[in-house]
Amino acid sequence: MKEGIAELRQKIDVLNLQLLELLSERARLAEAIGELQTAQGLSHYDPVREQQMLEALSAANKGPFENATVHSLFKQIFQASMHLEQQQDKKRYLTSREVHSDDTVVKVGDLSIGSDHSPVLIAGPCAIESAEQVEAAAAFLASRGVTMFRGGAFKPRTDPYSFQGLGVEGLRIGREASDRHGLQFVSEIMDARDVEAFKEYADVLQVGARNMQNFTLLKAVGRSGKPVLLKRGLSATIEEWIMAAEYLLHEGNPNIILCERGIRTYEQFTRNTLDVSAVALAKLQTHLPVFVDVTHSGGRRDLLVPLTKAGLAVGADGIMIEVHPNPQVALSDNKQQIDFETFDRYLEETGYHQKLSRKRHEVYAF
Ligand code: PEP
Ligand code: MN
Repeated sequence: MKEGIAELRQKIDVLNLQLLELLSERARLAEAIGELQTAQGLSHYDPVREQQMLEALSAANKGPFENATVHSLFKQIFQASMHLEQQQDKKRYLTSREVHSDDTVVKVGDLSIGSDHSPVLIAGPCAIESAEQVEAAAAFLASRGVTMFRGGAFKPRTDPYSFQGLGVEGLRIGREASDRHGLQFVSEIMDARDVEAFKEYADVLQVGARNMQNFTLLKAVGRSGKPVLLKRGLSATIEEWIMAAEYLLHEGNPNIILCERGIRTYEQFTRNTLDVSAVALAKLQTHLPVFVDVTHSGGRRDLLVPLTKAGLAVGADGIMIEVHPNPQVALSDNKQQIDFETFDRYLEETGYHQKLSRKRHEVYAF
């Protein structure tokens, strides 16, 4: 008597389990190959090898499936294996929470940045223009409880004929004023050859948006051992931004702060578009502190308060803002820097003083 459906299905059930076992064994071999490929810098995708496997399967195929069907079944298996290899690679990323589940706390002097520490404000002029300008800004900001002072000595300018910064002399001015007022000094580095000078004068090396994928610079800054503030590139995806941070961590530097500074969109009312989801996502995917630069994001003084609130609400560990003694005569970004009076109003309207002394989770409690 012929077997009934139930008996045939029982046989299929047994075969399913055998197939699963074989597939799992195959997947483990693929993982081992994937590891070797990664170690040797080879791609997981090898179309020539896939073609050879498909040809061998066609030659061995006795039916009843047609070759095209066998190919499509195996292509699924190839794809699943490659996915596995890629997932395996991701687990190795030093920026990933899979490798480092706790929040990183970056120490700058006696400041602790990240995790549940109070949000930190980095304030100061766009560019260091003179010792007098820097002294005025540093003295004022320190008197308002600011702990980190910014000022660019090397400026990445679109127009080569515009003010390029004072260079190493600017770094020296920034360092001296910061020391006089007990501030930590943050400044942008544009060239890997300047690392030694920055090590001498700056507390935090800023990698600007335009250099986010300058891999030579990232490697040099990563090796400097100094804390780094890594801006997101003008048109960088979140993944590219995190990969740039990976370069720094890969060089053995764990003290990395990410900084969202707005991205290029079609919008004309703002200079850039602040991507708040990137702040939240960077905090989910990585263990690094994330700041929001509210000045370059919107490029508008009237957005500084709401963008600060938005940044803190999505979990930012700090805010960067440009403050200049006399923005009208500033040599760069004179439309968006704020004067001292406006900064006082900013502190008041954001409630920053209360927030500076509170744990991050208390800043915006929902
Ligand atoms: C800056 O902070 O001085 C600056 C140039 O910013 P960004 O690199 O984000 O444009
Ligand atoms: Mn600026």
